[in-house]
This record gives sequence, C-alpha cells and structure tokens, in this order.
Amino acid sequence: MAEVIRYKNYIGGQWVESRSGETFENRNPANTDDVVGIFQKSNANDVNEAVAAAKEAFNKWRLVPAPKRAELLLRIADRVVREKERLARDMTREMGKVLNETRGDVQEAIDLGYFMAGEGRRLHGVTTPSELPNKFQMCVRQPKGVAGMITPWNFPVAIPSWKMMPALVCGNTVVIKPATDTPLSVCHYVKIMEEEGIPPGVVNLVTGSGGSVGMPLMTHKDVAVISFTGSTEIGRKVSEACARDFRGCHLEMGGKNCILVMDDADIDLAVDGAVWGAFGTTGQRCTASSRMIVHKNVIKEFTDKLVARARALNVGNGLDESVEMGPAINESQMNTVLEYIEIGKKEGARLLCGGERLTGGDYDKGFFTMPTVFADVTSDMRIFQEEIFGSVTSVTVCESLEDGIDLCNNTAYGLSGSIYTRDVNNAFRAMRDIYTGLFYVNAPTIGAEVHLPFGGVKDTGNGHREAGVAGIDVFSEWKSIYVDFSGTIQRAQIDNR
Ligand code: NAP
Repeated sequence: MAEVIRYKNYIGGQWVESRSGETFENRNPANTDDVVGIFQKSNANDVNEAVAAAKEAFNKWRLVPAPKRAELLLRIADRVVREKERLARDMTREMGKVLNETRGDVQEAIDLGYFMAGEGRRLHGVTTPSELPNKFQMCVRQPKGVAGMITPWNFPVAIPSWKMMPALVCGNTVVIKPATDTPLSVCHYVKIMEEEGIPPGVVNLVTGSGGSVGMPLMTHKDVAVISFTGSTEIGRKVSEACARDFRGCHLEMGGKNCILVMDDADIDLAVDGAVWGAFGTTGQRCTASSRMIVHKNVIKEFTDKLVARARALNVGNGLDESVEMGPAINESQMNTVLEYIEIGKKEGARLLCGGERLTGGDYDKGFFTMPTVFADVTSDMRIFQEEIFGSVTSVTVCESLEDGIDLCNNTAYGLSGSIYTRDVNNAFRAMRDIYTGLFYVNAPTIGAEVHLPFGGVKDTGNGHREAGVAGIDVFSEWKSIYVDFSGTIQRAQIDNR
C-alpha cells in the first residue's frame, strides 16, 4: 500500500499546516480501504491568515497588466493539459465518477483557462459620447479585491476553475475552500499554479469543513465577494451572511431538471439522452435529468426502453474503464438516495427498476446504489419536487406541449431543461416558456460549454452567471469615468439645455 500523503494549506505562497494542528482523512467512495490523502482541518485562524495574505497580494496583482495576468492563466491551462490523466485518475479516486467524466471535468478547467486567458486582452469596457462638448466618458472594469470561493464536490476542479480563472484575470486575489469530500483536486490545481509562477498570496487554499472554514470566510470583513456553488439550503445561509455586510455574493445552487419528450420525438435519441442525463455522474449533477415528462402517446415505449438501459448499466469503481456509473460520494449521500426511494414508494410512485444499494464483493467497500426509475410520478410528490442528487429519475405523463411545459415549470428550481421533438414550433415554444437558465433541444439537461453563461433562475441562483463573459461580471466592478477637457465648468443636465 503506497504511503498516504499529507496535504497542507497554501497561504501566502507557503504550504502550511492548520493552526488547529488537526487533520482529516479522505477515502475513495468506491473503495473505502483506499485513503486518498490526509488534509488540514482548518479553522478561522487559517482563514484570517489566508485573507490577510490575499489582501496584501491584491495591491500588486491588480496592477499587473491584464494581458500579463492572462499569460499566466495560459501557462496554467497548458500545464493542466499535460497533467490531465493524473488529475483525472486522482479525481476518480476522491470523488468516484468514472474516468471519462473526470477527464471531462479536467478538460473543462483547461477550456475555461484558455477562454479566460483570452479575456485578458479584452476585459471590454464601454465608451459613449457625452451630452456636453469636449468631454469624454468611459466605463472600465475594476477588480473587487479578495474573492472568497466555496465549492462543492461534484466537479472538483471544473467548478474551482470557473471561479478562480475569471477572478484572477480581472485582478482579484483568491481564497478557496474546497468541499471536504474533494480537497485533493484543488490541492493539485493550486500546486500547478504555484509551479507555473502564481505570485505569493494571489491564490490561497484552506481545507476544512463548511462551518469551520466556509463560515469565517463568508463573514470576513476583508472579503469583497463570495462565490458559492452548492445546495440551496447552504446558499441561503451564504446569502444572508453576505447581505448583512453588503458583501458581493454569487450563488449557484440546486436543480430539478426536466426532459420533455414529445410524441414526435426520436424516442431512441431521447432515451440515450435520458440515460446520460439521469445517471451520468451517478445523478450527482446540479443539471441531472431527474424528471422525464413524457407525452402520453409515447410514454410506454420511452419508459420500457429507459428501464432496459438503466438495468444494463455497468456500475462499479470508476477507475475501471468499462464501468459506466460510479458510487455516491459518501455514505450519507447514499442514505439520502435510499431514503428518497422509500419516500417515492410510500407516495405511490411505481418502482420500475433499481431501488436498492448494491452489495456483495467489491460493492461492500463502497457506496453504490442501483440506477433507479420511478413511473406514475405526479407533481405533488416529493420525488418530483426535491433534488435527490443520486441515481434516481422519475417519469411523469403529459397530455400536450402546454401540459408538459407547465409540469417542467412546476418546481422551485430553474437550472436546466430540455425538449425532444422534431417539430420546430414545439422547440421554440419550449425554449421560450420553460423557465431555466440553460435549455437544450434534442439533448439532455447536461452538457454546458464554458464560453456560454452557466447558471439558473428561481431557487437555483441569485441573478449572476458563471463562465462565458458573464463570468467576469461577478469579479469586476464597473467604474464610470468622465474626462472634461473643455477648460470650463460644464454642468450635466443643465448646460446642454
Ligand atoms: P453543500 O453541502 O451546500 O456544500 C457546498 C460547499 O459549501 C462545500 O464546500 C461545503 O463544505 C460548504 N458549506 C457547508 N456548510 C456551510 C456553511 N454553513 N457555511 C459555509 N460553507 C458551507 O453542497 P454539496 O453537497 O457539496 O454539493 C451538492 C449541491 O451543489 C447540490 O445541491 C447541487 O445541485 C449543487 N450544485 C450546483 C451547481 C450549479 O452550478 N448550480 C453546480 C454543482 C453543484 P463541506 O464540504 O465541508 O460540507
């Protein structure tokens, strides 16, 4: 058995132990005999030091020309290309999703790095004519200061990159707290940044729990903006804490995403999409396709095919290339999924396949649940309304396009939606009338690309977006600048009348 590595916090350009002197262990959810690493159990003292280092570094970093900052981002992205396989393998060990998906997760960090490096030569502002003669005016982007980041476990490097790259290119400095279940990927990412020359204090990493690290970070007076991705329940706490001090706050939260299958759809294509959307990442995506809303004329064919495909999925350790679905992230998440299955049964939904923990042999070492499909699910059921975040999806009948759209919208969340149809009129009406931040036609609810804004409406988000040019809005402040070269006093709204 290889020696277990002890990872440290990264503060002010140094790898340091937590002031608490305590550590925690992280184990592979597919094989709990495999200890992925030992990490620092940090507290408010570590957060204070990290924020102080970031605050000090900000005064230099903000003055580095943005194209120069971008060159560093480019080098980091190039290096991640070379390290892709190592990062993906360690990510599968710490998080459980299959290798192809962890490779995709790392690729997202590469793509986002390249995209944001390009932004270093744009960071476009605005110029506009003045209402007065001999006067010039413009709007420029300025960095906000220290950016605090709190990230979830389901995209261990992609989501941190979505936050860190735009923050850095805009000239902010960073303190990041990764999820307790997946600190390793961020440790690797930050190590790469250090080796590629990120100046001390510009990026700081503090590992530990939400309560001990996330909380002091989101309430720290020197943190200008918090960017949080995670559950709606914790996001609400982050929002309330930031509101008290008028701190900038960007939230990306839960989802309950629907695929609407019309009776003119290519059913085999819709089933392909449903299997990938529902069981990819073991259903542990904010964009997971957890509700299938299916036209009554095709519901039998669609459901039969979906169940056959779900039953045939190869579930196991994601390091095995033949495996299609990995474990739940931890025991508690697995138990939540199993509880929701019981809730679904009690509510009167019809269990068509799955419904249990996988046991026996290597399964006993991990947290594996069966791909599960419920039919006869109605909109008043909890399994229709609540985010399960696991290998469970549900099928609900609809009578028409209008009925299907109403059912899709019948949830507190608004992240992603999709329609399968061959009728362009249906597609455009669904695009317009389903209230989500992301929408797909003839593709499942997952599959975002980094150069488009990512985020949701209703209980999924608070009006900001990640990725794309919109992603830099979170980390920059508009400054409007007026330059009067008339040599006289000119009063706006008065002297031009
Ligand atoms: P979570 O429990 O809300 O945790 C998210 C992050 O917040 C973790 O780093 C967590 O630390 C931290 N945290 C927990 N309690 C905190 C507190 N009181 N104060 C400050 N920070 C705290 O979510 P998760 O289980 O990691 O991730 C799953 C959720 O994320 C799902 O709801 C999913 O839909 C959502 N998600 C949304 C998006 C999106 O873009 N909309 C993307 C991915 C995931 P610990 O790890 O130490 O608990």
